[in-house]
Amino acid sequence: MGVNITAYKDIVKELQAQKVTLVAVSKFKSAEDIMELYELGQRDFGENFVQELLLKQEVLPKDIRWHFIGHLQSNKVKYIAPFVHLIHGVDSKKLLAEINKQALKLDKVIHCLLQIHIAEEETKFGFGSHELSELHEIHELPGIKIDGLMGMASFTDDEQKIKKEFGELKKAFDRANQLSTFNHQLSTLSMGMSSDYQLAIQSGSTMVRIGSLLFGSRNQPA
Ligand SMILES: *Cc1c(COP(=O)(O)O)cnc(C)c1O
Repeated sequence: MGVNITAYKDIVKELQAQKVTLVAVSKFKSAEDIMELYELGQRDFGENFVQELLLKQEVLPKDIRWHFIGHLQSNKVKYIAPFVHLIHGVDSKKLLAEINKQALKLDKVIHCLLQIHIAEEETKFGFGSHELSELHEIHELPGIKIDGLMGMASFTDDEQKIKKEFGELKKAFDRANQLSTFNHQLSTLSMGMSSDYQLAIQSGSTMVRIGSLLFGSRNQPA
């Protein structure tokens, strides 16, 4: 099973019509697979693991925009800080502080999305949607620019449930913009994966993270 070029072209067309950004999620996939989409014009790629991202970043073209979409440990921020385009899953104040510290060391601003906990499962990381207005610390972190929010719906076939969860995230996004919680307008709402990206777009997503539809199913790493 290789890269599905037809699916890629169809999805790009579909997303362009709706002005939604595609992040091609390439975790566990080879540099060769990534290059297949790169040669078709894809530049935004998403990875979940720092070590894997570093290996790929080193050998792949430097104009790739790398999105870190996994759970990021504070002690690993320093490795991706020099080149990462957008960190999607920022889920704690501790992580915010560390990203800020590494950004200032490099004299740059790192763009981040705050992960919001919308799924029912206890294990999903993220801030509560009502915590946002209390994140006063953010205004004292000059190394960080919050571009928007990110979330993952429950893993279920129940479309109504998924829609409800995406709806909750969209509401949090709109509320933050109405209240100017971040002193600027948020532009990016990252929600939707292979199985639910169309529902996510109907709910107001501006950025989808799609892996298996493009690259085929994944084998877990050994
Ligand atoms: C793996 C992953 C994706 C892509 O999942 P697919 O179902 O393969 O599209 C999207 N977002 C996150 C956070 C992921 O970990």
